[in-house]
Amino acid sequence: MIIDMHCHIVPEDFPGIPNLPVMQHLDDGNADMMIGGKKFRSFRDTAWDAAKRIEDLPNIGVDKQVVSPLPELLMYHLDSADGSKLASHLNETIGTVVREHPEHYYGLGSVPMQDVELAVSELSHVKELGLSGVEIRTNIEGQNLGDPKFRPFFREAARLDLAILVHANKPTFADRLSDAPDALGADAAIGFGIECGLAGASLIWGGVLAELPNLRICMSHGGGVLTQLLARSDNNYRNRKAIGELLPEAPMDYARLLYYDDLAWNVPNLRFLIDAMGAGQVGIGTDYTGASVRTISVDDEFEALGLSAQEREQVSHGSAERFLGVS
Ligand SMILES: [Zn+2]
Repeated sequence: MIIDMHCHIVPEDFPGIPNLPVMQHLDDGNADMMIGGKKFRSFRDTAWDAAKRIEDLPNIGVDKQVVSPLPELLMYHLDSADGSKLASHLNETIGTVVREHPEHYYGLGSVPMQDVELAVSELSHVKELGLSGVEIRTNIEGQNLGDPKFRPFFREAARLDLAILVHANKPTFADRLSDAPDALGADAAIGFGIECGLAGASLIWGGVLAELPNLRICMSHGGGVLTQLLARSDNNYRNRKAIGELLPEAPMDYARLLYYDDLAWNVPNLRFLIDAMGAGQVGIGTDYTGASVRTISVDDEFEALGLSAQEREQVSHGSAERFLGVS
């Protein structure tokens, strides 16, 4: 069995509240998502129709998906009331998908991180709806995940035994990406990997993982540059007494508590991730919201990596099940 840990879903419609997205459904069965009155992106019906999507799963080579909101729908710039209504709508949408098709889907919802108190209370709703956890962005409107103000959210997720997918989003350093051609999509192509690295480093050095080592967190896109950039922190931690006293365990040890999808973009990167973090922390991702972004099939990837039978079991579904808390 192959479980897709990283893929997205959009609601068929949104509540008619100003500032929230609008789905304009077209005669061909597709829909345009309008954000702020402008077309953001077009979607096939498999982006919201869970039954139709099941027919598409064999085409992308997975058996079961962990659906989370399209990351652009984690709208932390909205005021608390609108943000809360949007998160609740996403959670109820994904809750219905999971309830109607438990053989094919697990679900991750959303919380309004712009208001930590509301985010904490929405987690109970997430739990009641039968979701496995929530997806959050790599930064909260520019603020680090390790900022103490967000700690009540992480504590409540741990208390409720909910998993967290940390998804890269619009980088906070867009000005540094301005040399890349527009066609590259530098936000994602360059920025996402750095965002994941910064978010992971914040979770570690901000003390979230030291306080909550049993909290299950998955970093999107193979954790980006996180595992490479931690090598220097790890050296400093082990060789400088003053730094070694800052955390109970070494940064790399905390990084090994995190889960990662396999969207590392080439086999040597993925080989490094598995060697450094262990196959039991890495699972499959497609980033599907109507189409997979994978450039290699799971079988070909496993062959190229030379994974053992046990490692294949872990990356195929074992890691995802542990991340979700269902193993
Ligand atoms: Zn994604």
